[in-house]
Amino acid sequence: MRKLALHWQILLGMFFGVLFGLLCSQFDWGKSFVVDWIKPFGTIFINSLKLIAVPLILASLIKGVSDLKNIAQLSNMGGRTIGLYLLTTLTAVTIGLTIVNVIKPGNTLSDATRTELLASYATDAAAKQSVAAVQQEAGPLQALVDLVPSNIFAAMQDNGNMLQVIFFAIFFGIGLVLIPKQKAKAVKDFIDALNEVILKLIDLIMIAAPYGVFALLAALIAEAPSADLFKALGLYTVTILIGLFTMIVFYILLVRIFTRKKTGFFLKGISPAQLLAFSTSSSAATLPVTMERVHEHLGVEEDVSSFVLPIGATINMDGTSLYQAVAAVFIAQAFGMDLSLSAQLGIIATATLASIGSAAVPGAGMVMLVIVLAQAGIPEAGLALIFAVDRPLDMCRTAVNVTGDASVSMLVAKWLGKLGKPKAKNWDDHYPGK
Ligand code: ASP
Repeated sequence: MRKLALHWQILLGMFFGVLFGLLCSQFDWGKSFVVDWIKPFGTIFINSLKLIAVPLILASLIKGVSDLKNIAQLSNMGGRTIGLYLLTTLTAVTIGLTIVNVIKPGNTLSDATRTELLASYATDAAAKQSVAAVQQEAGPLQALVDLVPSNIFAAMQDNGNMLQVIFFAIFFGIGLVLIPKQKAKAVKDFIDALNEVILKLIDLIMIAAPYGVFALLAALIAEAPSADLFKALGLYTVTILIGLFTMIVFYILLVRIFTRKKTGFFLKGISPAQLLAFSTSSSAATLPVTMERVHEHLGVEEDVSSFVLPIGATINMDGTSLYQAVAAVFIAQAFGMDLSLSAQLGIIATATLASIGSAAVPGAGMVMLVIVLAQAGIPEAGLALIFAVDRPLDMCRTAVNVTGDASVSMLVAKWLGKLGKPKAKNWDDHYPGK
């Protein structure tokens, strides 16, 4: 019998995870059972993905940059990448603002629900606010200062410093391009082999993906707040989902128009990364798989994918920026505030910057939302209103973030004549067991 394709295995894992979580929630002991005995396997799965994120960025980005013929090629690719990332983020915020102004989900929240939500999530909201406060205190050039690490090992130490690792990898790669070829050879060969090993590790981790997502979703359901709160925030959730769906259509059109690739080809190629992004809520944890899919299944040459994707995972968060715009206006509406046009234009700017500054980890978008709220003069305590549904929305926006990165990498590759035929023929090629 033919082995079930990996995306079906992952989908089945998700389905049974939800089912198992729901089942366990029916018993008093269910929640602690899931937390003690199932959740740890999900955590191990995410950790194993995160484990290879830094070595992967280092090896693939150094390889990517050093494969370039000259530095002009690098600045060419860099300029296009950043330009396209900005463009897609601005589009996302604009779509979000338009939809939230049309649907006006905040106006439907009853006074009773508002008071209940504010009371139940006040502490959680305060925790996010205090994390954001640290970022708010920083000067205007702090982001630039943070880009350059003073010690590469310190930068590699926790996965929160991806941009510093990227900076080092590009800098190191430039050095490799500039020295004579025969001298660079030994280092390049080593980096090439390292890259191969890491790609193999991704294959191995992906064997466990169906079980990993099972554990993650079972825990998520068992720990979810009461269903009534979900209902109260239904229209807000629907507004964001419509926005995120519109973004996916936007990417499909972009890819279709500019690369002439079929929608099915694109979605099939990127779907394992989307499923993983959905299950882990982390673009950084998903990065290894995104890189593999984009290169092997969407035909983006490695020097482009290894440059565009790690940068995208850290700075291009279209789903997050859309969510921040919708959430800010929703909170304002719920408090009966009327946002002027200039306040809304301000939200476009701050949500774009806040999404760039959001770390690629679960819940990061909400921390940066505090900054958007503060700029627009919207009460930050309003975070408590949206807390209950943040995790499921985080899952969806992360899937959009990853799709955005993949689309831009295809566009950049096409632009530079580096979009070829995919290496993999079957959907789950490159995975062992085939
Ligand atoms: N979880 C998102 C990501 O990793 C960031 C966020 O919106 O919270 O892309």
